[in-house]
Parts: sequence; structure tokens; C-alpha cells
Amino acid sequence: MKAWQYDEYGDVNVLKLSSDVPVPTINDDQVLVKVVAAALNPVDFKRRQGYIIATDSPFPIIPGHDLAGIVVKVGSNVKSLKEGDEVYGDVMERALAEPKQFGTLAEYVPVDEKLLALKPKNLDFLQAAAIPLAIETAYEGLERAGFSEGKSILVMNGAGGVGSFAIQLAKHVFGASKVAATSSTGKIELLKSLGADVAIDYTKENFEELPDKYDVVYDCVGQPEKAVKAVNETGVAVSITGPIPEPGFDFVLTANGSMLTKLGPYLESGKLKVLVDPKSPYPFNKVKEAFTYLETHRATGKIIIYPI
Ligand code: NDP
Repeated sequence: MKAWQYDEYGDVNVLKLSSDVPVPTINDDQVLVKVVAAALNPVDFKRRQGYIIATDSPFPIIPGHDLAGIVVKVGSNVKSLKEGDEVYGDVMERALAEPKQFGTLAEYVPVDEKLLALKPKNLDFLQAAAIPLAIETAYEGLERAGFSEGKSILVMNGAGGVGSFAIQLAKHVFGASKVAATSSTGKIELLKSLGADVAIDYTKENFEELPDKYDVVYDCVGQPEKAVKAVNETGVAVSITGPIPEPGFDFVLTANGSMLTKLGPYLESGKLKVLVDPKSPYPFNKVKEAFTYLETHRATGKIIIYPI
């Protein structure tokens, strides 16, 4: 099969496109998915740079967490999926603790049944690939923070993959009383269109110095000292980029297909919208260019690789 691989840590130039990679085998709890579209996430380049060397899988590594594709083979214990099903998911259950050798930037990927869900019928493969890791992270963070109807939230980096879903979930699924979010000037209208009541341009205002304080501050940027300053007296800050002082906590996503199934109706009804970066899709042979763009930290929503 065709696959992007690397066998040393480094910049984008360690990525090599091969056309003679053996198709991976599956175990009894897995299915083999023919990948139609994949999305990039910051963890893909952090891993390639050696950031999780202590726990990483053996080389050569095929990067990529997110996919949308078609089931072509089914393990003997698999109950909920069959050949021909159109599925999507984040294939790495524990991205930092147990990264897998076979990622989604390949024609075929072995995936645990529990990490997949049926693709929402109204979305094409390209849109579906943009969802899993980002929405699962956004949702898990809101749950861990005890977010619920009537609470207020500030999402730092509302235009990114995770933040764009955090805004929408808080507003349209959890029933937030007030959603604020940050971005640079050109993305302020986008934040409002996603459901932000207050859009803060971080190039003009320091959110942590404003009088408004929030029940939850969701840090998708990596500014923990600032994040905790925007929390109200009973509130909490959640960080997905590393340690944060109290009243904050950080976590790493546990990928979970059942969460995608749970959120399926919101995606199918159009209540939750998928934000695909306008430069996407990148064809499979342009993966290096896609990573170079991801690593600028300027993407608006998700960067998609399609067709594969
Ligand atoms: P993205 O690559 O999608 O973020 C890109 C966006 O960041 C751009 O739209 C940019 O908007 C915005 N941005 C950059 N600087 C700032 C700033 N100072 N304030 C506000 N917005 C800013 O990121 P993801 O959403 O995919 O991931 C965010 C972080 O979370 C990454 O570090 C990632 O590794 C981590 N992460 C952790 C997870 C976990 O389980 N712990 C899971 C998923 C992600 P603009 O151009 O307007 O600045």
C-alpha cells in the first residue's frame, strides 16, 4: 500500500512516501479501514519531532490520528461493524501513552472497533475526517470541567480544531449561558458564527485583564498563567497543552468512538458544524506541504488530506 512513514525524528523532511508498505494485519477486535480522507493534528508533528520518544512505537512510524473511510475486513470479535460500512474515528486511543505504529496517512489502517463510529450521513469523507480527535478532546474537556447548562465559558483559540468544537458544544449541546472565545482579528466573525456571544481579538485586548470572569476557561493555546486569571471564584481552567496552576487541570484525550456516536445527531442535524481550513484538501502527495502549514499554528479548523 501507499503510506507516509518516517524512521527518524525531525522536521517535515524525515517524512517519506512509500508505495510498497505491507498492508497491516488486524487482530480479532479490529477492522481494516480503507482510508478515504485523513486530518492532521498538532500531536502528529510533535510526535515526529520526538516529543513522545519515551513511549513511542518502533520505527517506521506512519503518522496520523484521524480518518474517514470504508471497512474492508472485520475481526472475529467485532460486533457493530461490517464490510462496506462508512466510518470515522481517531485511531490512537492513548496518543501519548501508547502511540501506535500504523497511523492514518496510509491506504489501509487497522483500527479497534471501539474507536470508530458510522459516518454521519450528511457529511462527506473529507468533512468527517475533520471531526474525531478535535471533537472528542473538546467534549472530554468540557465533561471533566463539569460544564453544564447555564454555565459560562471562555475558549482560548476558538478558531482551531479543538476550540471551534468547544465553542459549539458549549453553546449548542451543553446549553452555556455565555460563550466567549479568542482569535486574531480576521477570525472574529467566524467565532461568532460558531456560537460565541463574545469574540475577543487577542491582538487588541488581553482577555485576562478584562472584568468578565468565567465558570470554565478552556486553554487550547498554551497560556496557563493567563488562563487561570480569567476564572471566576468557583470556576476551573482546563488545559490541553500541559501543566496549569490551580484552579486548573490538564488532561490528555482518550479516544472514544462511542462519543462520536453520541454526538452524531447534532452533526446530522447541522447543529454542530465542521470547520475545514480553506487551504484543504491537500492531495496525498502533498502531505509535507500540509504539515508545513499546520506547523505555522495559523490553520482555521482542520487540515485535510484527500483523496488518499
Ligand atoms: P490548531 O492547530 O487547530 O490551532 C490553530 C489556531 O490557533 C489558529 O486558528 C490560530 O488562530 C490559533 N492561535 C494561535 N495562537 C493563538 C493565541 N495566542 N490565541 C488564540 N488563538 C491562537 O490547534 P488544535 O486545536 O488542533 O490544538 C490546540 C493545542 O491543543 C495544540 O497544542 C495541541 O497539541 C493540543 N491538543 C491536546 C490534546 C490533548 O488531549 N491534551 C488534544 C488535541 C490537541 P489565529 O491565527 O487567529 O491566531
